[in-house]
Amino acid sequence: MSPATAIRAVLFDMDDTLIDWSRVPIDAWQNHERSCLRRVWRWLAQRGPVPAFQLFDEAYFREMYDSWRKGKRNWVAPHLADILTHALHAVGIRDERCDREALLAAYGDQPPPGLRTFPDVIPTLQQMHRLDLRFGLITNASQPMSLRDETLRTHGLLEFFPDVRLSAADVGYLKPHRAIFAEALERLGVRAEQALYVGDNLIADIHGAQEAGIFAVWRTRPGVDLASQTTPMFPITPDLTIHSLTELLPTLAERT
Ligand SMILES: [Mg+2]
Repeated sequence: MSPATAIRAVLFDMDDTLIDWSRVPIDAWQNHERSCLRRVWRWLAQRGPVPAFQLFDEAYFREMYDSWRKGKRNWVAPHLADILTHALHAVGIRDERCDREALLAAYGDQPPPGLRTFPDVIPTLQQMHRLDLRFGLITNASQPMSLRDETLRTHGLLEFFPDVRLSAADVGYLKPHRAIFAEALERLGVRAEQALYVGDNLIADIHGAQEAGIFAVWRTRPGVDLASQTTPMFPITPDLTIHSLTELLPTLAERT
């Protein structure tokens, strides 16, 4: 990015950049998933015979972990509707109940308890919105954005991203694949050098944004140093490192 290039858009990662998952332990997250699966199971049971829930539960988690393992190899995004459908096929349900939209609706969209926005997020977004900027969000999620929007709404974030919110599940590719960044830029109507991207993951966010030609800001926590997060074989150097979103405001004020 040349110093003369004005920033016209800011893109954010969602999880652990805007929304803090540190208070959701893995077992709480699994229990939350399980409550979503039980809703799906009740919906199915109202419309036909079902085997034991445990079989579906096991098939779902197996499918989910498999699809993420594959996705991390080829950056093809897992999709919750595929995971649910494959899990149902695995337990012998192959009838008209395997309807993607109906399954997603039954699964629901409430975020797990314990999530919160980082305290600096909303005040900083309010200040950023006073600048002449467009805003976008890219999340590496298997849920379509229609489901992830409920998390944004619950946490008071939806209003800050009125136009461009992309879930990998909808686009088909996970960050760091270039396609998802290109899609966001196109929807924002800006060139790569006119955008700034903020994320917490060095590979998905920082490497991905830089490969797409976007100025990449690493949002990390105090005490987490770059050397411990990268290897000499695959060095990643963020264009800027911040511990709080407020640290972006001077850069944006200078560059808009
Ligand atoms: Mg993240």
